[in-house]
Amino acid sequence: MMHVTTDFPAAAHEALGDKSLQAALARMRQGFVSGRASAVARLPEFDAYRDAARAIRDHTLAHLDAYLEIFEANVKAAGGQVHWCRDGAEARETILRILQSRGAKTIAKGKSMVGEEIELNAYLEANGVRPVETDLGEYIIQLRRETPSHIIAPATHVSKAQVADAFRAAHTLLPADRSLAEADTLLAEARAILREEFLNADAGMTGANFLIAETGTSVIVTNEGNGDLSQTVPRTHIVLAGIEKVVPTLDDAAVLLRVLARSATGQEISSYTTFSTGPARKDDLDGPGEYHVVMLDNGRSALLGSAFHDMLRCIRCGACLNHCPVYGAVGGHAYGSVYPGPMGSVLSPALAGIAAAKHLPHASSLCGACEQVCPVRIPLPKMLRAWRDVSFDRGLVTLRSRLGLAVWTFAARRPALYRLATALTAKTLQKHRAWFRLVPGLSGWLATRDFPASSGRTFMAEWKARR
Ligand code: SF4
Repeated sequence: MMHVTTDFPAAAHEALGDKSLQAALARMRQGFVSGRASAVARLPEFDAYRDAARAIRDHTLAHLDAYLEIFEANVKAAGGQVHWCRDGAEARETILRILQSRGAKTIAKGKSMVGEEIELNAYLEANGVRPVETDLGEYIIQLRRETPSHIIAPATHVSKAQVADAFRAAHTLLPADRSLAEADTLLAEARAILREEFLNADAGMTGANFLIAETGTSVIVTNEGNGDLSQTVPRTHIVLAGIEKVVPTLDDAAVLLRVLARSATGQEISSYTTFSTGPARKDDLDGPGEYHVVMLDNGRSALLGSAFHDMLRCIRCGACLNHCPVYGAVGGHAYGSVYPGPMGSVLSPALAGIAAAKHLPHASSLCGACEQVCPVRIPLPKMLRAWRDVSFDRGLVTLRSRLGLAVWTFAARRPALYRLATALTAKTLQKHRAWFRLVPGLSGWLATRDFPASSGRTFMAEWKARR
């Protein structure tokens, strides 16, 4: 089970008043959205690639058991090992067992959202292993003892000044007079520290963007090269991945890579795309002596064939977060889950249970921007509505919402009454616009917005008149 920690309405309210967060979110929205738009414009066949990517993911999920077995057989043939884990606890214990059996005290970690999902770092620390995050964003939030606020840009909420403060607090040998005012000085400082960590780590860990069944290969994409150092310098390489990451062939991975980078960061391809198959062979110049793949279910197989099956197509590009007006207004921490935004609002209730994540399916305007940009065409709004149904059926919505829906349902089932009530309301609001503020439940919405004056006619009356 995954944890969801916050009460979304209260956390969102707080986030809206956080000026530093709002400035960071404005920068993020601009960069990612325009980057994706220009990358897509440069590839006229982008939509055809999206269709192909969707078909690959659908085919794989329809035969997931078979492709997982093929993947395992090919990892073993290449000299590696596969460990199957039903939940986060099993995955944490498996990783710790591998590390303890090698006497490992430190582990250099490339970025892994699954590692965040199972809260791996806290567990390793409690058991005498020091994890070091080597992706710059992950390193920053590790120093700040935070969770990621974005699935591809974990420290997007942190300003340069806050990064400098975190470095000064943690890097005790950093001279007080060294400037950390600019991005390049911050990068140089992080690079110097992390270089030593790579060299001294007893083991390395990465996530996997894809796992290729036909070759038993794990694939990672990064822009910093930290994943490559995490997996080639230490003696042991552990890959941690969800079971849905498998794809049949190298050709399939190539199609998915073409839509991934464009959707995520607006790049044609990420700076580093690395394919790893088994431990180092006799003639290899470098590479780990051992290669382990820890495969996590943690609720994923229960989604197969359910109303949320399509969510398993997700390739974690982050485009739905970048284009979501709700995520753009409140940032990732308000969701209280390591998977925020539209994809998180569908996935978190599935992995943590709807009771724990009951607010998240409602954290959406259902505008549909997420589905429009999703590279594998996941119908996120449809699934958010499905979670709302589940939430309603289980009595998890507020009494006020239930009463409101009951009143609306009563009127909607009686067309004459509905037309009369809406006509009277439209007429009344034309004469007394301010009365709108008396409608129960709208005070929050109207606190920062006005409502347009009513024309005095309902939508249906306008429609009839125009025809
Ligand atoms: S749901 Fe789609 S857009 Fe969102 S992260 Fe997953 S693949 Fe990307």
